[in-house]
Amino acid sequence: MSEPYQTLFTRIINRELPADFIYEDEYCVVINDIAPQANVHLLVIPRKPVKRLVDAKRSDTKLLGHLLWVAGEMARRSGVGDAFRVVINNGADAGQTVFHLHLHLLASEKFNESDIAAP
Ligand code: 5GP
Repeated sequence: MSEPYQTLFTRIINRELPADFIYEDEYCVVINDIAPQANVHLLVIPRKPVKRLVDAKRSDTKLLGHLLWVAGEMARRSGVGDAFRVVINNGADAGQTVFHLHLHLLASEKFNESDIAAP
């Protein structure tokens, strides 16, 4: 029988590697990015290790919606107001480096295009 798909983020979720946990529920966790590209840079990560957005199944639509809701909730809780960005890099050519779907929540105190490098 094949081993379940393991990723860096699976190891963080399983507490095998350290991370700053900001939020978690039955579907996802939220951690601080280790190399922040903005004053607030959170990663919303599903517990289910979907590799890329394009690999999500129709049966994952509820999960995908939940991840978006959590991103908005984290923005509300972190007090960044209404100036934030949610980014998903899909595939290596788009800058994806960890092949476990995740949403970047990026916000600076005063949101400015030039403040935010592509994550
Ligand atoms: P991607 O490039 O795949 O869209 O985003 C991966 C993100 O994960 C990057 O922003 C990177 O800084 C972050 N990252 C990589 N390794 C770790 C880690 O061990 N801990 C945390 N908290 N973030 C990580």
